Amino acid sequence: MKKFLTLFVLIMISFSSVLFSARPSKNIRILVVTGGHDYKKEQFNQMLGSLGPDITYEVTGFPEAFDMFLPENRNKYDVLVFYHMWQKITDEQSKNFADCIREGKPVVAMHHSICAFDDWPEYWNIIGGKYFHKPTTFKGKEYQPCSYIHDLHFKVKVAATSHPVTQGIEDFEIFDETYKGYYVEDGVTPLLTTDEPSSTPVIGWAKKYGKSKVVVLQSGHDAPTFENPNFRKLLKQAILWVY
Ligand SMILES: [Zn+2]
Repeated sequence: MKKFLTLFVLIMISFSSVLFSARPSKNIRILVVTGGHDYKKEQFNQMLGSLGPDITYEVTGFPEAFDMFLPENRNKYDVLVFYHMWQKITDEQSKNFADCIREGKPVVAMHHSICAFDDWPEYWNIIGGKYFHKPTTFKGKEYQPCSYIHDLHFKVKVAATSHPVTQGIEDFEIFDETYKGYYVEDGVTPLLTTDEPSSTPVIGWAKKYGKSKVVVLQSGHDAPTFENPNFRKLLKQAILWVY
């Protein structure tokens, strides 16, 4: 009898470990991190709400958001979505931030998130890009301050047609802000490009940082992009892919 009981207990333990180690297929909890730049909250939240019943969101802002990178808070969400342009960071905050992502918390970074943390190059390594506000030397190369232009109609080309992030998306038009002259890390997978002369050609990419997948989408300045069905689809597929 004791043997059977032991066997039963062992089966239950292995069964429950399978149950609890598997990531839930539903309900991806995204933590949207804002701060350092204004945006149209209502339309932005409508976009987040449009991502479907499997993606739930919480919006937080810097500097409070730094606490969410602490080890004890990392199980409160599944995917980080950056929509911030925060600059100030302490050594301790930057360590927790980088560790959190290196150890497995995936990231989707949108738009002015590539303009954040002017004085913290490890952030540029995390997302694989940087919009420079001042002349900067990085990895032996000199960069001049980047430029931006608002309210342009331009064509977004899908560069990686078979990638899960761009699957089912054809080249499309967008009305958005362009950035020119920003750094894009060697070796990233380009997902989206544009021929618009006021933009750096690669405007969307995928990469890894530590154990995490990272996707960057340069677009996303204002409501027309939040309402663009192709952008919504990209954002959703980016979240599903990094998760
Ligand atoms: Zn912008």
